[in-house]
Amino acid sequence: MRLILFGPPGVGKGTQAKLLSTKLSIPHISTGDMLREAVVAGTELGKKAKAIMDAGQLVSDDIMIGIIRDVLRSPRCAKGFILDGFPRTVPQAKVLISLLAELNIALTCVINMEIDEAEVVQRLSRRLTCKKCGKIYNLGIDKLADQKKCTNCGGELYQRDDDKPETVRKRLRVYSESTAPVKEFYKHSGLLNNVNGMGSIEDVNKAILAVLHHG
Ligand code: AMP
Repeated sequence: MRLILFGPPGVGKGTQAKLLSTKLSIPHISTGDMLREAVVAGTELGKKAKAIMDAGQLVSDDIMIGIIRDVLRSPRCAKGFILDGFPRTVPQAKVLISLLAELNIALTCVINMEIDEAEVVQRLSRRLTCKKCGKIYNLGIDKLADQKKCTNCGGELYQRDDDKPETVRKRLRVYSESTAPVKEFYKHSGLLNNVNGMGSIEDVNKAILAVLHHG
């Protein structure tokens, strides 16, 4: 299965991708996670990406396409993948088509997760992420006795620099200007399926699995 989870920041792509990755035994490919890992590792890419990410802007198409080309060609993705955060612009979506054609594979489905903007700002201001295992928490839902510690692996929890309300609003503007047009692109290809991202994690997961099993 080769999936794209598409939608605005905060809709729950990362959370759902992790669940689907376990259930379907295919890797979760998050370009945002890869960039954050590069920032932590202090690589050239990380140094370039940090300021752009903190400002809520998009990293250049050239860089992102290079990253995704390497991942999709790797043995890790041989049995399928879940893309989270890519493609984020129409040029990225176009290059993905030729990349998949080169590899002689096709996308199974694009899940478009939908949510109200007000809910995004609320959710992201309460989001904590584990530095070690990447587990995502929401302080409105998860009752954490210790807000600094991951209940899964004991790793340190932190708030992403780009989850501050003013940066979230910037990310939403960037989403509607540069990323939302990608939706039209997939609508024409007949691959796009809408899923309401406003429900509980379990309900949204069921809705996605229903789309995947019944089309
Ligand atoms: P995410 O974790 O998907 O919310 O991504 C965090 C940030 O990483 C974004 O706000 C962008 O700055 C950058 N980023 C991740 N994926 C892409 C992409 N496909 N194209 C451009 N920038 C990206």
